[in-house]
Amino acid sequence: MIRRLNIRWRLTFWFAAAMTVLLVIRSFWIYHMMERRLATITDVELNAKIDALEDLLRKKFELKDVKTSLERYADNQRDLQIEIESSEQDVLFRSHPGSQIGVDKVRNIQPDTTGRQYATNLSKDGDQRREVITVVPTSLGQVTVRISRSMQAERNEVWEFAMTLLKSLPMVILAAFGVGYLVSARALSPVDKMISTAKDITANRLDKRIDVPDTGDELARLAQTLNEMIDRLNTSFEEMRRFTADAAHDLRTPVTALRTEVEVSLMADQTVDDYRHSMQSVLEEAINLSRLAEQLLDLSHEDRGWNYDEQPKVRLDVILQSVREDLHKVAQQKQIRIDTQQVRPWTVKGDQVRLRRVFTNLLNNAIQYTPNGGCIWIEGTSTPETTTVVIADNGIGVPAEDLPHVFDRFRRVDQARNSQSGGTGLGLAICKSIVESHGGKIWMESTLGQGSRVYVKLCTSKSVGGQSIAE
Ligand code: ADP
Repeated sequence: MIRRLNIRWRLTFWFAAAMTVLLVIRSFWIYHMMERRLATITDVELNAKIDALEDLLRKKFELKDVKTSLERYADNQRDLQIEIESSEQDVLFRSHPGSQIGVDKVRNIQPDTTGRQYATNLSKDGDQRREVITVVPTSLGQVTVRISRSMQAERNEVWEFAMTLLKSLPMVILAAFGVGYLVSARALSPVDKMISTAKDITANRLDKRIDVPDTGDELARLAQTLNEMIDRLNTSFEEMRRFTADAAHDLRTPVTALRTEVEVSLMADQTVDDYRHSMQSVLEEAINLSRLAEQLLDLSHEDRGWNYDEQPKVRLDVILQSVREDLHKVAQQKQIRIDTQQVRPWTVKGDQVRLRRVFTNLLNNAIQYTPNGGCIWIEGTSTPETTTVVIADNGIGVPAEDLPHVFDRFRRVDQARNSQSGGTGLGLAICKSIVESHGGKIWMESTLGQGSRVYVKLCTSKSVGGQSIAE
């Protein structure tokens, strides 16, 4: 039932319950302490009286003198019961003849350092009495003196007090509920604020942030964490928006070109050669469009994520060899030489098709951005932990200011050189996405006019144990 209540009421309930338990325990504790205090006070009082009696007994030598003095003393101390016994246990004196100190139930007897004994007894009529016993050497020999006094009146008062405390319980519970509710409402008010701000935050209003209280407590940390989450969401939404806008822009250009080409050729009668020329342009744009569509699809697949852990081991050296063979003809057309270090088996965990796409893109770029007669190197190293492949070229390179952004989506370094190559600006972004989903890293070093080196670092499959590349 309690679980169904909201946090505010649950806190209130537990606070009130704790207060009730504490109050009950405290009432009993106070009662117990007061009882002990009462016994101590009574002991002090009885000790003073027994001291006086001891003085009296030590002074008097005749029994009848003692008796007369005791009777006079007892008459002045009517609430006291005094009993004196000889060492033979004969009763020498009893303050209230016929009565006997009621020892129905001896509750406790504790001798102190002076040899006096203290007891709390319960008489037959339920009267609780405190008793002090001492042995006094007199001229009549050793006598045992017992004096006692009823503690009932004080006890009743203590009991009354405890009862008053308990009777105030309903009031205390009510007050605890009230205080508990106010305290928890105050403690949770930042949460209410967070909820209302969070409700205001939508995909279009990701600029809003939750107020972080400067308390440094759990709620402040929660607000901080939520704000960090909103930051991340904002970044992703921004990226998505930019990506959609870029994609739309990049689709519009070839579509507009297509449309213009077709419209122009339909406007007037043209020769077969003119039509063929137009068709050639249409085909080129269509190829560009379909490449763009494919790359967008690739990216969306990568963004959806896939389970890298379940991937088998693949031979990176075999993939590189095959990519090289595939692009050999393209390189040959530009008289570009591709040098590959002779490698031993490099085994990494990953997806064969995706890794192949990475190295095809990289080698393709190297060929595209290297002038005729240039050179490309495929090299790398492998340790038991990582395998790093480098695709290097002595091509046109990338300006330093563009280098940090070449892996961004739709990022083209220079429109002029890309329009020649027909690049979409998505190739390196796809490579980055794939490499990172393999738990790897990709980066580029480049000098404008001198060439570029793209590094791909992947985890070596340990069970096989990658080996260093032969020099
Ligand atoms: P694109 O499809 O336009 O080639 P990429 O994402 O593959 O797009 O590359 C992004 C940009 O990085 C390219 O526009 C190109 O200018 C530059 N680039 C990529 N690889 C190289 C390279 N090997 N040499 C010089 N520039 C490169």
